[in-house]
Amino acid sequence: MSSSFHGKVALVTGGTSGIGRETAVAFAARGAKVVVAGRREDEGFKTVDLIRSGGGEAHFVKADVSQPDQVAALLAEVVGRYGGLDMAFNNAGIEGTPFIPLENYAEETWDQVIGINLKGLFLSMKHELPHLVKNRGAMVNMASVAGLTGGRLGAAYYASKHGVVGITRSAAIEYADKGVRINAVAPGVISTDMATRAFFQDPAVTARIKSLHPMGRLGMPGEVANAVLWLCSGDSSFTTGHVLSVDGGFVVP
Ligand code: NAD
Repeated sequence: MSSSFHGKVALVTGGTSGIGRETAVAFAARGAKVVVAGRREDEGFKTVDLIRSGGGEAHFVKADVSQPDQVAALLAEVVGRYGGLDMAFNNAGIEGTPFIPLENYAEETWDQVIGINLKGLFLSMKHELPHLVKNRGAMVNMASVAGLTGGRLGAAYYASKHGVVGITRSAAIEYADKGVRINAVAPGVISTDMATRAFFQDPAVTARIKSLHPMGRLGMPGEVANAVLWLCSGDSSFTTGHVLSVDGGFVVP
């Protein structure tokens, strides 16, 4: 990868752990000023400390992406502090309840998952796009293999991630002639807190999950971060509306 992000501003939602934290650190290592957004202050400050200890520039904003006022305030703070927005990684998400049959799936959990993974993404995009248009920037949305296939990880999670793919594709077309590229990443199972909660409580489930990846292993957060950075960089200048699998061969068409 050749592009530098010096002078650019990046926003990472859910930058408080896992893939978001790793990507925030990677953006900063390439010279970007990074705004880390999330609900958990202590974890957000941890990401900022990691970046600053590496000589980078970062700022934490406490924001819940499912709350319209908080997303509006987040973008106002990004632009107020750094003067604009060049790259947005809409990563915040929750898993809901995996392995629950649809007929037993709680309505409340459905609302939470859709509210964060899909409405939260819509709200983030809505408030980011005017600024990305101004700077002819790039956006990457967090989908999943669950946005490309069916499975047993819970109805709401699949529905939300299929929605992420849909809004990414439609927005990419809407904004292509405005100079904003909009893509998504679709990771397989990546070793993070979420995967630990969802899959690593039972060794039999862990083994089954691993076996779904032809490479025979789980992914690492840095492998997703590399894909996000490429999609935000000038190295992918003719790529928009693409959903990039980062999944060890989980979904090979
Ligand atoms: P994670 O739980 O470590 O990270 C998710 C982050 O999002 C957390 O820091 C959490 O606090 C934050 N978050 C949750 N709800 C939020 C809200 N309403 N507002 C702001 N922040 C919120 O897990 P992760 O694996 O790093 O997940 C990151 C993203 O990657 C999620 O969207 C997830 O669906 C997606 N994903 C994960 C995997 C995997 O196997 N780990 C695979 C595919 C996709």
